[in-house]
Amino acid sequence: MSSRFTDVSFLTDVVPEDQVETDPDALDAYAGDEGPHPARRPDAVVHAHGTDDVSAVLAACHDRDVPVTPRSGGSSIEGNPIPVAGGVVLDTYPMDDVDVRPADRLAVTGPGVVYDDLNDHLAPYELRFAPGIAAGNLATVGGMIANDASGLNAVKYGVTADHVRHLEVVLADGSIIEFGRSVAKSASGYRLKDVFVGSEGTLGVVTEATLALEPRPIERRAALATFPTREAAGDAVANVMAGPLTPGALEYLDSAAARLLDETNDAGLPDAPQLIVELHGTNDGVAADLDVVRDACEDAGCTGFETATEAEIDRLWAARRDVYPAACDYREDATVAFIGDVVVPVSRYPDHRRARRPARRRTRRHRALRRPRR
Ligand SMILES: Cc1cc2nc3c(=O)[nH]c(=O)nc-3n(C[C@H](O)[C@H](O)[C@H](O)COP(=O)(O)OP(=O)(O)OC[C@H]3O[C@@H](n4cnc5c(N)ncnc54)[C@H](O)[C@@H]3O)c2cc1C
Repeated sequence: MSSRFTDVSFLTDVVPEDQVETDPDALDAYAGDEGPHPARRPDAVVHAHGTDDVSAVLAACHDRDVPVTPRSGGSSIEGNPIPVAGGVVLDTYPMDDVDVRPADRLAVTGPGVVYDDLNDHLAPYELRFAPGIAAGNLATVGGMIANDASGLNAVKYGVTADHVRHLEVVLADGSIIEFGRSVAKSASGYRLKDVFVGSEGTLGVVTEATLALEPRPIERRAALATFPTREAAGDAVANVMAGPLTPGALEYLDSAAARLLDETNDAGLPDAPQLIVELHGTNDGVAADLDVVRDACEDAGCTGFETATEAEIDRLWAARRDVYPAACDYREDATVAFIGDVVVPVSRYPDHRRARRPARRRTRRHRALRRPRR
């Protein structure tokens, strides 16, 4: 951690004193994120309670050339909430108001609303914010917009950007601006809100977002399909996506990940390349859709196709969500060096599965993990 000191004493003239932290122990909690990147202690943290706080802090820091890093849930794994230049971490986590407009299928939220909390809030309206994210208990609307986050359900419902209708943003000089409209169709004006989505906090601080919601699926079905090889699993993905339906979620787990989850979480997953597929519908026709997926998997040579009950669906996804923490916990003496998503056109996914892996040196633990389980 750097020891360069920035004078941040002006902050208590700008926001109430109890919203400013300068105690080193408190600052350390805002020095890193959930990824492997080196931490950097900020000089101060300001907990923003509203747009006016954000505007006042940004304007004051702008006048004094003090760097500001926005932050909400701190669950990023890319290092982008880390205040690499020191200065102020501007915490928008306390800004967690939610206003649901069910007739318009919209929610107006503060940036600090946690993904799972938002969906709990929307459940009585049979609506949900749908991109899906494995860190749903940590990630907030502000961080998801800044990272254009997405997860399990993006295959059917799209990414965060596809759900942002309107944004209130504060620019670096403290000015407050609005982009977009709270309607599904509007062709007038430049789509400037899309410049902010995915800008990782570099262009301004999101203080309010209007999000498009999806109806909750009335019927859900899921299955776990196992394959003799990862190539066959890749072929099944292409078969499913070339077919007549779009799954609500379709995730690949290799056998190493399945063994890891079995070892660390007692997940009970088969020791084989596998696909978890979930289907959403409004009626029990979704059971027939499952047969379409079964055919697509069988055409690719699947060796098992287990359908899941409602409770088992949640257990499967809980296991899938645990891959990253399980990988982090696997070896206490090492950090996870690289985290990333595969980004290829779906038609090229089988080629990606077939691509040769570079040879690697295997550690003793690695070999142990590969040993067949009794
Ligand atoms: C176990 C685990 C699983 C994960 N799974 C997924 C996944 O499935 N999909 C996925 O996309 N990501 C995933 N992530 C990464 C992370 O959860 C997401 O990137 C998430 O969007 C970060 O949200 P956050 O609120 O924690 O943001 P933070 O970590 O606080 O910040 C992330 C970025 O947003 C900026 N920011 C924060 N608040 C604001 C604001 N109000 N205005 C402007 N910029 C702001 C920050 O400066 C930073 O650049 C996972 C992380 C973990 C630890």
